[in-house]
Amino acid sequence: MENSLYIHIPFCSKRCYYCDFYSTIYQRDLAEALINVFDRQIENFDSVFDTVYIGGGTPTVLTLDLLERLLLKLKSVTREVKEFTVEANPESLDEDKISLFLDHGVDRISIGCQSFSNLKLNFLGRAHSVKQAISSIEKAKKKGFDNISIDLIYGLPIESYKLWQEDFVKATKFPVTHISAYMLTYEKGTCLSRSLEAGKILSLSSDKVALMYKQMIDYFTKSKFFQYEISNFSKKGFKAIHNSRYWENQSYIGLGPSASSYFSGIRRRNISSLPKYIKAVKENTKVWEYSEKLSLVASAKETAALKIRTIEGIEFNWFRQKTGFDFLKLEKEPLAALFNQKLVKWAKGGKKAIKLTRKGFLFADTVSATFL
Ligand code: SF4
Repeated sequence: MENSLYIHIPFCSKRCYYCDFYSTIYQRDLAEALINVFDRQIENFDSVFDTVYIGGGTPTVLTLDLLERLLLKLKSVTREVKEFTVEANPESLDEDKISLFLDHGVDRISIGCQSFSNLKLNFLGRAHSVKQAISSIEKAKKKGFDNISIDLIYGLPIESYKLWQEDFVKATKFPVTHISAYMLTYEKGTCLSRSLEAGKILSLSSDKVALMYKQMIDYFTKSKFFQYEISNFSKKGFKAIHNSRYWENQSYIGLGPSASSYFSGIRRRNISSLPKYIKAVKENTKVWEYSEKLSLVASAKETAALKIRTIEGIEFNWFRQKTGFDFLKLEKEPLAALFNQKLVKWAKGGKKAIKLTRKGFLFADTVSATFL
């Protein structure tokens, strides 16, 4: 039974310099064609979902009529919804769209602010200004959203400790319940990575980025934004339910080009081309470009790699119930190395769980890869 549904809207108003997500510049005819194929796919679902996440790309570049069609269609496959999130970008979020979301059961909005410095926004190639970012948070709150998440990016080549501090301090002053803060990465094929390779920009030292991360965690904790995953912080009671299911390696279905799914031990990624995806749905052929049935061991190891990202880490009883494996036996060798490098430690309450150390949080991708 798949309870979680992700819908990828692969359109943006412009491409940011650092982004390698699959998305294209908004075109009305393509957007309409995509909503038509979503209609068809949703009609054929035999699952019912209790968390929905409409992400992208930029869902809010869709016009009001297309957003409404999608939201109305989703009513037929959602029951007792625990969380319904829509991602929004400041340049395309207006009051009509906010009202539409609220009228159709969306109870969480995730706004891609990224920074409260125009210098940083320009460097990243964002389509919005600080003024628009602040106004979008205020509009969402005023119209009735009580669960507002914002994204931040840090570790830019142009960034000083002071600039980053201004960002994370400001973030906590807005009426938001959740903050996702991501370290800038240089993804292959992006403008930013080309600039780096050409020597036009210099990446920050890992020591400096590590200190920025630490400063942020300390400040957020003081401000009652509790860390519950490497990059995620929330006020009490506002952990992201949908995303937390990913870290528990629970099943989910992804609709849209490049979206992933995981169900019955099968991991799948949809075709990363909008025209090809639309064609595949219309012709009733497979919409995925990658699909793998994981063995029980591989699936258990993935669970370890994902769950270690959370603040509570991996509790061995939970792991056994979820995967059928004894965690300490399954990951015996990687664990010894990770303890040696002081990347993991025993969680409180005896040797019943492990979690990341402070250092481990900085090298979480390495720790995850070691478990696989
Ligand atoms: S970061 Fe977001 S808005 Fe920018 S190009 Fe990527 S998906 Fe689009």
